[in-house]
Amino acid sequence: MSVSIGIIGTGWVGSSVAISTLHSGVCTELLLYDLREEVAAGDAMDLSHGASFYPPASVRTASIKEMRRCNAVVVTAGRGGRPNESRLDLLKDNAATVRSIGQTFAGYEGLLVVVTNPVDVLTHVIREASGLPAARVIGTGTMLDTARLRQRLGEELRIDPRSVHAQVVGEHGDSEVVLWSGARAGGTPLRQWPGWSAEREAAIATEVRTAAYEIIRRKGATNHAIGLVTAALLKWALRGDRRVITVSRVHEDIEGVRDVALSLPVVVTPRGAEQVIVPEMTKEERAALQRSAAVLRRAIESVNG
Ligand code: NAD
Repeated sequence: MSVSIGIIGTGWVGSSVAISTLHSGVCTELLLYDLREEVAAGDAMDLSHGASFYPPASVRTASIKEMRRCNAVVVTAGRGGRPNESRLDLLKDNAATVRSIGQTFAGYEGLLVVVTNPVDVLTHVIREASGLPAARVIGTGTMLDTARLRQRLGEELRIDPRSVHAQVVGEHGDSEVVLWSGARAGGTPLRQWPGWSAEREAAIATEVRTAAYEIIRRKGATNHAIGLVTAALLKWALRGDRRVITVSRVHEDIEGVRDVALSLPVVVTPRGAEQVIVPEMTKEERAALQRSAAVLRRAIESVNG
């Protein structure tokens, strides 16, 4: 079966998404586009030279219009964060870029996967500009934060991160919420692990929340983990594995905040992020999710106003 994936924007993130997607074997064709045409062309050549080392797939450049026939298109176009800049500061610059991309996908039948930051607000912008059903415009959201959390917890507990079940929900950014009450390893709540403490939780949550700033301060961008995250999202969705992952989409109502994009656990399929699973939360976690939704709602209004 042929599966075609497009990537718009082949900077740090786009090229990492490309190599991880090729290794995952999910597609038979990978199409690349960047405003800097030579950069996309160079990446296509470079990636195709590795064809002996990943499952059969062709790689070439294409126009955004041609990508309308892809099964999924990933949007990483726009600029990255700068040291000491919050993701919401990126908003104005990147909203204009992704809005025009969204308009090109009106009537599109595949999945649009949004990576450009601030990812939740831009998921809302692209959904609106494209007019697509909310389930088919998926932001990577807190899937990356959840991966970072599981890695850190795995390190703390000396357990494979894949055996640690813990989730980050809400904004991919400063107001994100770690659902500690539901976090488990081997079926045991983390809060019952010997030596577990509120201080330990707070320190880990801060590390996860500020991870991107720490990486950007050192190397100017983050790319590898988001590349792997996006490739996994594409694979699990397009193969119909029905995995539950924390990704962003527009919701009608979150704790009384209407029309906002943020992450919750969702079953992903080729038809998108259709089945949202609202997790069990404590009163405090629920309130934190509502605060996160309100932060995002204000950001959406600031870009529309
Ligand atoms: P980058 O500057 O290396 O690459 C961005 C690319 O987009 C550039 O090559 C640029 O030419 C291209 N571009 C700009 N406007 C375009 C347009 N209209 N059409 C096509 N291409 C266009 O930046 P990066 O480090 O790759 O980051 C890309 C985005 O991904 C940033 O917004 C960054 O914050 C975000 N990001 C998100 C996550 C996440 O978890 N959601 C993680 C890492 C980075």
